[in-house]
Amino acid sequence: MITVAQALDHLFALADPVAVETVPLRAAGGRILAEPVTARRTQPPFAASSMDGYAIKGVEADLHAQFKVVGEAAAGHRWQGTLGAGQAVRIFTGAPVPEGADKIVIQEDVTRSGDLITITDDPGPKDNIRPAGVDFAEGMELEAPRRLSPGDVALLAAMNIAEVPVRRKPVVALISTGDELVVPGETPGPDQIIASNTFGLSAMLEQLGAVPRILPIARDTEASLRTVLGLTEGADLIVTIGGASVGDHDLVAGVAAGLGMEQAFYKVAMRPGKPLMAGRLNGVPMVGLPGNPVSAMVCGTVFLTPMLNAMLGLGQRTAPRVSLPLSAPLDANGPREHYMRAIVEAGNVRDAGLQDSSLLSVLARANALIVRPPNDPPRPVGAPVDTILLG
Ligand code: AMP
Ligand code: MG
Repeated sequence: MITVAQALDHLFALADPVAVETVPLRAAGGRILAEPVTARRTQPPFAASSMDGYAIKGVEADLHAQFKVVGEAAAGHRWQGTLGAGQAVRIFTGAPVPEGADKIVIQEDVTRSGDLITITDDPGPKDNIRPAGVDFAEGMELEAPRRLSPGDVALLAAMNIAEVPVRRKPVVALISTGDELVVPGETPGPDQIIASNTFGLSAMLEQLGAVPRILPIARDTEASLRTVLGLTEGADLIVTIGGASVGDHDLVAGVAAGLGMEQAFYKVAMRPGKPLMAGRLNGVPMVGLPGNPVSAMVCGTVFLTPMLNAMLGLGQRTAPRVSLPLSAPLDANGPREHYMRAIVEAGNVRDAGLQDSSLLSVLARANALIVRPPNDPPRPVGAPVDTILLG
């Protein structure tokens, strides 16, 4: 048996970053920025008022001082003059601060009568001016790689970047295997169940920024499996689910080998999970996950997600963990690393109930996985445990 870290290294070795493409800014949210992008302008490009009020000379900002209003500056329309002593310019938020002015008195602090204003409330020390470049200067870089948040997209827009270099979305072919499976919405026979893993993994992959492609269910015959594997053209990654151990009906390894797959077959010291297949089929990386629903989803978190992130150019990183105190005690762990379905609440974590690897209702209730090292002793309430938060 190999460790989870060793298994992940085998998968990373298959996970070459996909190509870079350019997308319009409005399509860039959630995509992976592939190269640093440089601001094409300074923001704000001029000293700008941050309030509605009157632009004056700061040295004249005394209580009861009076000013003559000589013009107006609105956002998009600067006042084209130079402010003199005793003068004020009506100004609005976002407008360029006039030459000669260095303070904005907010409109609440003055009374106006015709062209005359009087400061009637102490304007205080704030100048209410955003200096040129206070946000960023031309040439500033937004670093890559990164997953573009809504805030990043707004920043790119302000930087006047209309086209963004991002990683292409990897296409992932998902194949369920088994005579017992039908797709949701169909009427199962008396001995059949609904294929769930492909749909759960598809949702997971979509969130990561991949394009999942759910292929028809492969039946437990070599011919059917060969047919479905033949539908994977154009995929950047092939994921099979189930049929990957050594049972009589577990055909994936044999059929893939027959199709020329150079493969490795691993027993991973983890629970749930264990059987894992990895290799290349006609140059395309292929991963075989266990069929048990929770095993497949946990392997999606522990293996597929880091692999996809690597393909998206985000580097080779394991699923991030945080250390949280237990709110319920845990029994001793066995010899395999255990990814326990868990619930994080109010900064504490506890197991989510029965840990059988077929229980999707428990997984759905969980929002985290507690990671128990092999042979971890019993842990009392309050003990810190490694926890992976589920998205
Ligand atoms: P296998 O690895 O093919 O022996 O499958 C192990 C268990 O997982 C069996 O109980 C299968 O019925 C179940 N299983 C396999 N694939 C899926 C799937 N796509 N959705 C739900 N259950 C599955
Ligand atoms: Mg099967």
